[in-house]
Amino acid sequence: MAKSKTSIKTTTKKVTKKSSPNKATKQRSQDIFALLTKLYPDATCSLDYETPVQLLVATILSAQCTDERVNKVTLTLFAKFPDAPALAECDREELETLIRSTGFYRNKAKNIQGACQMIVTDFEGEVPRQMEQLLKLPGVARKTANVVLAHGYGIIQGVTVDTHVKRLSNRWKLTKSDNPIQIERDLMSLLPQPEWENFSIRTIYHGRAICKARKPDCNSCQLAHLCPSVNV
Ligand code: SF4
Repeated sequence: MAKSKTSIKTTTKKVTKKSSPNKATKQRSQDIFALLTKLYPDATCSLDYETPVQLLVATILSAQCTDERVNKVTLTLFAKFPDAPALAECDREELETLIRSTGFYRNKAKNIQGACQMIVTDFEGEVPRQMEQLLKLPGVARKTANVVLAHGYGIIQGVTVDTHVKRLSNRWKLTKSDNPIQIERDLMSLLPQPEWENFSIRTIYHGRAICKARKPDCNSCQLAHLCPSVNV
């Protein structure tokens, strides 16, 4: 099974308005990214999938759940229902049972089945490659869409803002917002477009390894000299 990683859901707002970051913040964001790239050169999506549909399903399942747990669940799920037609037609209760351990399983099952039905009926069985179309699928907001476009198709249209990116971009003072749409907009204005997803995935690695939610390990952090929140 092919390897990849990442993570989610619900707004259809389009990112259009551009922020105007100051030069120093822009430089610092790029220095942070350069260092993250040195620290995590091989960082990639950690969800297991073989097709864009499987990546979409895995990403929906990863909401409020670890990628490790999702990978255990999808091993069985994709063996039984490997593609959009199979997931669109499967028994909802059986689907719920298979994904139960990922949490919020009723809502996730509803969204997975609804998305796969729409993929079959409206998109000829293929996950769409356009952000606007992806956002029409049940359970898909910009976070999920960015993951699927970047890791499923190699299309970079935004910055994936998950809980780690949200926390770290605030600690780094690259944004003042706690709204994922605004955070994404701020980060897009700071970083070169080809690196948007690379920034996100490496930030996720750093959030998991060092800059944890409850107790950031500032004493071990190699980004401390660039971080306004060191030991705060
Ligand atoms: S110095 Fe501390 S707060 Fe800043 S990124 Fe490192 S661990 Fe996080």
